[in-house]
Amino acid sequence: ARAQAMEVDASPGVTYEDIGGLEHQIREVREAVEQPLLDPDQFTEVGIEPPAGVLLHGPPGTGKTMLAKAVANETDATFIKMAGSELVQKFIGEGARLVRDLFELAGEREPAIIFIDEIDAIASKRTDSKTSGDAEVQRTMMQLLSEMDGFDDRGEIRVIAATNRFDMLDRAILRPGRFDRLIEVPEPELEGRKRILEIHTGEMPIDDAVDLEAVADMTEGFSGAELASLSTEAGMFAIRDGRTTVEMQDFEDAYGKVSHEDDTSGTPVA
Ligand code: ATP
Repeated sequence: ARAQAMEVDASPGVTYEDIGGLEHQIREVREAVEQPLLDPDQFTEVGIEPPAGVLLHGPPGTGKTMLAKAVANETDATFIKMAGSELVQKFIGEGARLVRDLFELAGEREPAIIFIDEIDAIASKRTDSKTSGDAEVQRTMMQLLSEMDGFDDRGEIRVIAATNRFDMLDRAILRPGRFDRLIEVPEPELEGRKRILEIHTGEMPIDDAVDLEAVADMTEGFSGAELASLSTEAGMFAIRDGRTTVEMQDFEDAYGKVSHEDDTSGTPVA
């Protein structure tokens, strides 16, 4: 049952080319995670330790999970994902045990990338250790840090964590030897939005008159996930109209729909 809380993927099909607008972040992730896995001797020769853990932080739906999957894909590593919230909520009282299982599984499947989404759920500075629930959360975090400390004998395992709430994090997890490489993953700028739209409409039959630059222009503040759903919605509008070609009007209608959804639900369209 516990294994169900983890998502294990021997070859996640995400590549760097699938990620729009994060050239700098891709470079950073490659340096911090890919290089040490593919060429550990390089670090030994230069006499430095690779980062122990990488923390990706930024708003929801900006490509953090994609980055972790792409690096696993590129290094032929097994991708093992777990959400911090699941570590402490799904199997109450078993968080520390789950963390042990997570690293044990990674050891069996190495090279492996362990991706912990929503790390804030187990490493928030607002945690008050006086209540028993929070003590459990702290034990889970301590177990994670101690597993990371044991890395030297663990071989080819890298840990990537992600959060939308960097401000809430307990700074203790950012110390050297822990999550000591921070990579910010922001909302996409104009160029990034255009690239993301190109990626998500790549397989769609779109009309010559569709101006993705203009769509990128009108979608300021949209995340990658929102741009992906905008593209899907545009396709839906075409289908509803009995067409197999997607037109500019479909993108405009989709824009109305996706930005409206965002207003009313109060949650990201991720
Ligand atoms: P969360 O913080 O909510 O977990 P995240 O940052 O991990 O989000 P992803 O899961 O990587 O976001 O992205 C969700 C989906 O949004 C992706 O599967 C993809 O379709 C789309 N997407 C997000 N960012 C990008 C991007 N930079 N380029 C292309 N597609 C993107």
